[in-house]
Amino acid sequence: KTILITGASGFVATHVVKAFLERGYQVRGTVRSEQTAVNVRKNFLEYSDRLSFAIVEDIAQPGAFDEAVQGVDGIIHTASPFQFVVVDQEKDLLQPAIRGTTSILQAALGQPQITRIVITSSFAAVANLSKGLWPEHTYVEDDWNPITYEEAKVADGVSAYCASKAFAERAAWDLLEKEKPHFSLATICPPMIYGPVEHHVQDMNKLNTSAADIYRLINGSTQEVPPTGFPAWADVRDVAEAHLRAFEVDQAANERFLITSGSYSYDDVCDVLRTAFPEIKDKIPMGQVGTSQPAVYKVSNQKAKSMLGMEFRSLESSMKDTVKSLLELETRL
Ligand code: NDP
Repeated sequence: KTILITGASGFVATHVVKAFLERGYQVRGTVRSEQTAVNVRKNFLEYSDRLSFAIVEDIAQPGAFDEAVQGVDGIIHTASPFQFVVVDQEKDLLQPAIRGTTSILQAALGQPQITRIVITSSFAAVANLSKGLWPEHTYVEDDWNPITYEEAKVADGVSAYCASKAFAERAAWDLLEKEKPHFSLATICPPMIYGPVEHHVQDMNKLNTSAADIYRLINGSTQEVPPTGFPAWADVRDVAEAHLRAFEVDQAANERFLITSGSYSYDDVCDVLRTAFPEIKDKIPMGQVGTSQPAVYKVSNQKAKSMLGMEFRSLESSMKDTVKSLLELETRL
């Protein structure tokens, strides 16, 4: 079977591509340019006979995926802008996220052999940011980010990004409701995703947003442990596995999944890293030992465990692998 994986050059998609290749699928990745295809291919030399590419320069363009979807049996849609610093909330975040999602689903309507589409949504589409850390709440799959489009257009970058994920996912479910297509849908909603950085990175200043979130804690640029904006996380390898299972498991049809190991704080991260990497411990900010951390919401992973049979990595093992990969990358670049 051939699976189309969009945004194949990304941090998350690299692990998704790997998971599907390891499982024996043919993978067609979408990338923006031939050069990017060359870079991605280097990561998967042992699978080169089962990996091909389709160029999609901009997912926001009408009909962007019309060619890429031809003949594929399933789609994993990961491509979406993930940046918190943008010039124009609507043009840089909302429109590409929403249009990319609707155009891939529209294109899939004309491909009767497609059985399932898995969309990389986000906890950003689930969280109600106006409630802050909402300690008494446990987020479940029925929760939705309630921001309006008008609010999102003028919101700060973080809120606009979260809105872009919420509107994109809503657009997918709305289309399903309206078109009653021949394929089923599943959406994957992880909070902050960490873990080994394996995609092609040009320079350490151009890391993907969630890897940069950890890199700032080990590169000497952060003096004090920052407040934890989204106190829940997942490892990218677990997220990739969840995409694979959401594609394969019958029961996952038309379901939404929170994918998370659970809560964490940057204090926890710094503690793990100072012990695991003594050679750089002076660059890692020190939390206030003994002070209690603020109470925060919980994010349930029950559905992912029971329906997808997921198990989740520990923060300690994920952080060690994240930083090992970042230090290797730093040495190489
Ligand atoms: P990356 O920035 O590493 O990957 C994003 C991918 O999308 C890249 O391949 C990028 O291509 C592509 N892309 C973005 N905009 C466009 C566009 N307009 N046209 C064509 N391609 C585009 O981020 P992640 O891997 O972290 O994110 C992947 C997905 O996971 C996103 O949907 C994100 O919302 C979601 N997610 C990520 C989380 C995290 O913590 N990392 C948490 C929850 C969800 P290029 O690099 O060439 O621009």
